[in-house]
Amino acid sequence: MHSSSSRLTACLVAAGIALTALAGPLAAEDRPAKELFGSMQLPAKMQPASYGSYAKGCIAGAVAIPTDGPAWQAMRLSRNRRWGHPQMIALLEQFSGDARALGWPGLLLGDISQPRGGPMLSGHASHQVGLDADIWFTPMPNHRMSAQEREALPFTSMLRKDKFLTVDSRRWTDTHAKLVMKAASYPQVERVFVNPAIKKKLCDTWQGDRSLLGKVRPIYGHDEHFHIRIKCPQDVAGCKPQARVPAGDGCDKSLAWWFTREPWAKPTPKKDAKPVRPRYATLADLPKACRAVLSGPSPASEMEATYRGGSGVATAFSAEPAPSSGVEAIIAADAAATEGLVPIPVPRPLDQ
Ligand SMILES: [Zn+2]
Repeated sequence: MHSSSSRLTACLVAAGIALTALAGPLAAEDRPAKELFGSMQLPAKMQPASYGSYAKGCIAGAVAIPTDGPAWQAMRLSRNRRWGHPQMIALLEQFSGDARALGWPGLLLGDISQPRGGPMLSGHASHQVGLDADIWFTPMPNHRMSAQEREALPFTSMLRKDKFLTVDSRRWTDTHAKLVMKAASYPQVERVFVNPAIKKKLCDTWQGDRSLLGKVRPIYGHDEHFHIRIKCPQDVAGCKPQARVPAGDGCDKSLAWWFTREPWAKPTPKKDAKPVRPRYATLADLPKACRAVLSGPSPASEMEATYRGGSGVATAFSAEPAPSSGVEAIIAADAAATEGLVPIPVPRPLDQ
């Protein structure tokens, strides 16, 4: 009895090994696209081009914004998400100078895109084509932060913790408002995402050009940073534009909806609905051009692909692959960033 059961066990183990050997490691085609793009350390050395849509695409010829500029510092360098279309990087440079002219000390830059764009292991649905960038609502400090400080500086929400969807007037200033509206003023900027409470604050108080308010779009999260999205560059055929923003300032029913229960309620499962297993995106789900982007040649160094040849940079992290435990830290940080302020139902709206 004993021997036959152990023989059975041995047999099952052998069968298991055989099965595993048969299945083998997943071919690149079938691996989650986020793993393929998330492991890229350098961009594809090709003509700059954004392929696909903001939430399903990739970018060739991305450039990195230097970690430090006269009026910006890039944050969370270990994420290696300082990469964007050269037009986006140029805009950020211009915006940082304009921000200073408004009395803002300088920009803290959050995520732009991965070196070759594409889906990410954590954090965003969009930011895939190098045309999205996150800017902190925290002003740049008056010293140059170390790489460690840039990892650890906590996000600061502009919302009150004790009141539903209400801007904290101890934190939010007129200069914050001017900063967001300045971002919206550039012709190439199509959308600026902010929390609904911030949009409402702007609707209630903005004295400048009201026509620009329509570009400021309310969305979940975005209470400790805002998100700038630029249009598809004109010379790129493979870039899929978004729908234009509706006419008007958006200080209307569409904004009032955010202050109802509906956007914050847990979605009620449909009757008889079968549980759907979320399917990860593979290379086949992305535009064909993204295969060439993924397999394209790398520049010799990060510096070679850094905007304007880089400046005095201290990228202690960015040249090395993030340690695997880093991914968990990033996910935890993302969760902490949005936690507690507002419940975020799944699925989120697709405006991201
Ligand atoms: Zn963003």
